Amino acid sequence: MKKKILAAAMAAMVTVTALTGCGSAASSDSGSTGKTLVVGTNAAFPPFEYVGDDGKPDGFDIALIKAIGEKAGYEVQIQDMEFDSLVSSIGNKIDVAIAGMTVTEERKNTVDFSDPYYEAVQNVLVPKGSDIATAADLQGKKIGVQLGTTGEFIADEIEGAEVSAYNKAVDAVNDLNNGRVDCVIVDKNPAEVFGAQFSDKVDVLDGTKFDFEPENYAIALPKGDTELADKINSALKELKADGTYDSLVKKYIEE
Ligand code: GLN
Repeated sequence: MKKKILAAAMAAMVTVTALTGCGSAASSDSGSTGKTLVVGTNAAFPPFEYVGDDGKPDGFDIALIKAIGEKAGYEVQIQDMEFDSLVSSIGNKIDVAIAGMTVTEERKNTVDFSDPYYEAVQNVLVPKGSDIATAADLQGKKIGVQLGTTGEFIADEIEGAEVSAYNKAVDAVNDLNNGRVDCVIVDKNPAEVFGAQFSDKVDVLDGTKFDFEPENYAIALPKGDTELADKINSALKELKADGTYDSLVKKYIEE
C-alpha cells in the first residue's frame, strides 16, 4: 500500500490536479437533517489524504469518513481545498473537515471536534548529513512548514528561526531538497512518506527528540451541532468496535 501512496504522491507532484469541486455548498441543515455530508479535506497529506490514481481524493481519512457516513446515514461528498481554508469553511462551503487535523485550543474557538481518532507528533525532515538533532539545533534555522498547521505554530516559537510556509508540505520538502530551507517540520506519517519518496536525500527525525508534544487528530465540526457530533462519534465508536478502524489503519498507514 505504501508503494501505491508513493506513486500517487509522485503523480501529484508533476500534475496540476483539478479540484473535484461539486459546486454545491453545504446547506445549513445538511449536517443534521439532509442526506449529504460535504466533507472538506486537503488531499496533499499522505497517507491520510492524497489524490489517487483515478484523480479522486483517497487515503485513510477519506476511507474513514466514508465509513462513518455509511454508519450514520449520510452520502459523503469530498471537497478538496487548501488546508488553511478548512476551519473557516465549516458551516458555509463544507459541513465538516477531515484532514489529519490536530485538535488545538485556538481552533476550538471556531469549531468543535469529534472524539480523536489518531495520535501523531511533528517530525523533522533534514538533508542527509545535517547536524540538526535536538531542539536547540533548530534555533536560527530556516524552517519549512505547511501553512496554517501545527508544524508552523511550533516553528514560529523557535528562537531566531526563519519560517517559510507553503500551501503543500511537499513544496516545503522540494525547497529542502533545493537547499532553500535547513529542515521541514511536518506530521510524522507524511514525513515518513516524504522520507521514503526522497530516501536518497533526506532523513526523518522523530519529533520526540525535539520535545514536540503528541497531537490528536479529530474531525472538525460546526460549533454547537451536538446532534451531528453525536452521530459521528457513535459511528466512530462502532467502527473501532467492529474492526473496520483497525483494517483501515492496516490498509493505509501500516506497511
Ligand atoms: N496536523 C497538522 C495540523 O492540524 C497538519 C494537518 C495537515 O497538514 N493536513 O495542523
